[in-house]
Amino acid sequence: TFRALVINKTDDHYQCELTQLETDALTDEDVHLKVLYSSLNYKDGLAITGKGPVVRKFPMVPGIDLVAEVIDSRSDEFSAGDQVILNGWGVGEKYWGGLAEYANLRADWLIPLPAKLTPEQAMWIGTAGYTAMLSVMALQQHHITPESGPILVTGAGGGVGSFAVYLLAKLGFKVTAVTGRESLYPYLKELGAVQFMTRSELDKPGKPLQKESWAGAIDCVGSHTLANVCAGMQYGGVVACCGLAQGMDLPASVAPFILRGITLAGIDSVMRPKADRIEAWQQLADLVDEEVLSKIGQTIVLEQALDYAHQLMDGQVKGRIAVKIA
Ligand code: NAP
Repeated sequence: TFRALVINKTDDHYQCELTQLETDALTDEDVHLKVLYSSLNYKDGLAITGKGPVVRKFPMVPGIDLVAEVIDSRSDEFSAGDQVILNGWGVGEKYWGGLAEYANLRADWLIPLPAKLTPEQAMWIGTAGYTAMLSVMALQQHHITPESGPILVTGAGGGVGSFAVYLLAKLGFKVTAVTGRESLYPYLKELGAVQFMTRSELDKPGKPLQKESWAGAIDCVGSHTLANVCAGMQYGGVVACCGLAQGMDLPASVAPFILRGITLAGIDSVMRPKADRIEAWQQLADLVDEEVLSKIGQTIVLEQALDYAHQLMDGQVKGRIAVKIA
């Protein structure tokens, strides 16, 4: 048997508990893995607490991220002893995920752990850092450079937001961080933010065209916030849209698109092709430094994951949580 967090649902009851599973309960996939670290993302919080319809099959082992060691593999791509990263692909939603001691997964979904990162560091980065990197890459692919002008990051205190602030600053961009928590200003300053806005300046209905303030933006929040971000872009500005912390709706107008030629770039990390994943993780390994990473990340053990998932849903968590499994 092995230890795992397991989510069960009946008609009137949703429950997640730490329990023992039989080894042969894992589905047969081509790579058998010993999980070293997993992490807690917003999506894991939704799955564990039942606050959002993330889990599509029960019983489910949550955990959309993991770093693991290959025990054995039927794929030529990996052999015993290799360390690999998994992010997304429906793992922790449709397929059993990382908050367990063992996992069986498809070789197609796995990428090698970059040599510069430890398993713990990779999970401090996790889907949040990887999504932030994809968002930064989207701005770059649309030719936004530090010379283009300042960049706005919303939901800056969260996992994706913290990494977006840090990666942009590291690449030389001037970053304005939007947060609902003034207490996080020193932390965000350390990550490289040079200016701040409060969440309440952006989360209510606003004018369709506002002062041209930003060359680029990474939005983790959606809803009125994203509408206001679009309305405040400079001519030709680019917004990477990656989250929905305020809401899934987008009560916006076409004005900034047809009058200022702005671009809204959608970011999906879950089904992202393997080549992009490898590029994003390589850039992460090159860009992040150990000291800053240890300011963003904290590590808990599997026994604490339930409690921390609730704290995450209550907006009490700063930065990123890795979960030590092995
Ligand atoms: P997180 O750590 O919980 O961060 C979300 C942040 O959003 C919070 O820390 C908070 O920042 C802000 N926020 C929360 N509620 C808000 C509200 N009602 N109005 C405005 N701002 C609010 O979550 P995360 O892991 O960083 O993920 C951020 C978002 O990206 C989530 O919606 C997640 O589902 C999404 N996501 C998408 C992808 C993808 O593939 N596209 C991948 C990963 C995550 P402050 O306290 O600083 O204001």
